[in-house]
Amino acid sequence: MADMRTAILRAAQAADRLHKEFETKSYTDGDEGRIDVFGMMAKRDLPVMFRPLDKLLGAYLNEGAPGVIITTQRQLPVQRFTAAHELGHAVMGHTPSLDPEDVLMRSPFGAKIAGGYDLQDIQANAFASQLLLPRWLLAKHVRRQGWKPENLIEPDTVYQLSLRLGASYSATCHSLLSGRSIDGSAYDDLLAVKPRDIKRRLLAPYEPENYRGDVWLITERDDGLLLEGSRSDLVVINVLEHSGSGYLWRIEDLAAVGLAVVKDGRTDPHEKDTVGGMVFRKVVAESRTGAIGHVNLSEIRPWMESEPLRSLNLELDFTGPVPAGLLQAQREALLGVA
Ligand SMILES: [Zn+2]
Repeated sequence: MADMRTAILRAAQAADRLHKEFETKSYTDGDEGRIDVFGMMAKRDLPVMFRPLDKLLGAYLNEGAPGVIITTQRQLPVQRFTAAHELGHAVMGHTPSLDPEDVLMRSPFGAKIAGGYDLQDIQANAFASQLLLPRWLLAKHVRRQGWKPENLIEPDTVYQLSLRLGASYSATCHSLLSGRSIDGSAYDDLLAVKPRDIKRRLLAPYEPENYRGDVWLITERDDGLLLEGSRSDLVVINVLEHSGSGYLWRIEDLAAVGLAVVKDGRTDPHEKDTVGGMVFRKVVAESRTGAIGHVNLSEIRPWMESEPLRSLNLELDFTGPVPAGLLQAQREALLGVA
């Protein structure tokens, strides 16, 4: 096989061909913030089975017909990266591969590349990075959220970026480094921060039972977006409220999709100068057993029949990680539901 650099380049090109085939750019122009890797596997008729694997995150098998196994023992972003890695093996016609954690968490870029690793796995990782975290998708989120390039050295910003990409915090840091959005020392600083500390900061003063779930900071910038997370996730909704003019945000839809409001408060953004009559409304809601459905939050005058001043629409799917069994779309196809 050609040298390492060429091998990685070919893997990235294979991922780009899938972006074209599945028109991911137009989907992510709409309401999808992440690349639908499971949907790609279903459409390519690549069977994907989820199982409580012990030492492996995933495997690519090819005895007679190709197929993929993914662990149920990890969070959704790790399942997604594993799926993309195994899809890479399938797309590039690799030989079967059993993938423990250290294979998948290794960066295909940078100094760690030396040392006799399987070239197929290096390619599959490069493929997965380019499939789930292409530079153009990161740039789209940065634009949508109104972040500046200098915000990408802030752990809180990178963490929120990772949630919208459906990627882990560390994979997002890798991608920012390899795309040269940040330098090596900013990368080291980002990785030194524990996501748990970011979550605690976001939720304060609320303290959940544990910090296993992700914490989504949602603002009006997220209007119209599909948010895919896990059963243990929390949301922090931060919106301006024109209370001086009698407007209040209606948040009943949160409970309707399975999000329990655990904190609801207001802070005055202009403590001394309240001429604007606006406050920041901060709502914390917990998913606990999963939340799914359409959420419409609107800022209205509760006693008047009038158009909402503003509204925030979200499509939530906090049912991850994927449970044991065949991929849902493939199960439905088998049963003739789809
Ligand atoms: Zn592999």
